[in-house]
Amino acid sequence: MAKIGFIGVGNMGGPMARNLITAGHNLKVFDLSEEAVNFIVQSGAERAASVQDAAKEVDIVVTMLPVGGNVREVFLNDGIVAAADPGTLFIDSSTIDVESAAAVHEAASAAGFEMIDAPVSGGTIGADQATLTFMCGGEKAAFDRARPILEDMGKNIVYCGGPGKGQIVKICNNMVAGIANLATVEAFVMGEKLGVDRQVLFDVISTSSGSTWILEKACPMPGPVPASAASNEFKPGFMAKLMLKDLRLSQAASQMAGTPTPLGATATAAYQQHVNNGFGDLDQSSIVKLIEPSDE
Ligand code: NAD
Repeated sequence: MAKIGFIGVGNMGGPMARNLITAGHNLKVFDLSEEAVNFIVQSGAERAASVQDAAKEVDIVVTMLPVGGNVREVFLNDGIVAAADPGTLFIDSSTIDVESAAAVHEAASAAGFEMIDAPVSGGTIGADQATLTFMCGGEKAAFDRARPILEDMGKNIVYCGGPGKGQIVKICNNMVAGIANLATVEAFVMGEKLGVDRQVLFDVISTSSGSTWILEKACPMPGPVPASAASNEFKPGFMAKLMLKDLRLSQAASQMAGTPTPLGATATAAYQQHVNNGFGDLDQSSIVKLIEPSDE
């Protein structure tokens, strides 16, 4: 069993860390939110005094932070690359921009550490049930070393290629998810306005060619999926401001690749407007409020 430092125990990192404890690992956790740390300490983790402390005397450090700036702050300068013991493996599961991923990979490698980027898909349900998909980028040897730990938090562990390739796959996935959310709410609001019951729309579309993971597991309309954020007052889940972050990353990636992504651009603009309207802290599924402001 490994000794693991875990930094960032929010909506995703909290349940992921708990699954590592359940699997028998020794966890040392740090988060800027004391409340988030308390939750995981109650499950048996040790409280670290700082990010540096979380990275000392451990075999592996897992980070699960909101954006690239947070990851740079935690890794670089006097952060965990400077503080960790030789031989420590870094696993960054945050979804971040390609440039920040490259910067932390380079710093870790220059200091002699192995590292993978390993962003996830599957939402808080997947984090809770240890069924996440991990999209991994880095040297193959680092991936092989990380794999047993990732298997304690997920079900589908995929090697995507060299450093940063996990982030590219994740950004592609989330662009599809953002577009699917918007497409789903547009169709439901239109169908309901034309007199069809929401449940009928769900029963048919979820078993027809319009079905997606978003519809089946995280239906953005309140009601048909009782466990979804939409059915629970849009409590996150996955905050709309984080979806906007990922859609923006998709647009930067589209520029880098030189490929047009008109639907990605539309979804980005829609989530930008939604966040500007003050709904950034609600779950991503709350985008229905942009299409039908009166919907709960
Ligand atoms: P969150 O805001 O719930 O959790 C992030 C945690 O990081 C917070 O508790 C925050 O206090 C902590 N943090 C921020 N900066 C820190 C620092 N410098 N040092 C220590 N702790 C710090 O976010 P989340 O929903 O858990 O998402 C985390 C990452 O996972 C994001 O990149 C997100 O895009 C990605 N993601 C989220 C979901 C989801 O469904 N929520 C799904 C897939 C991927």
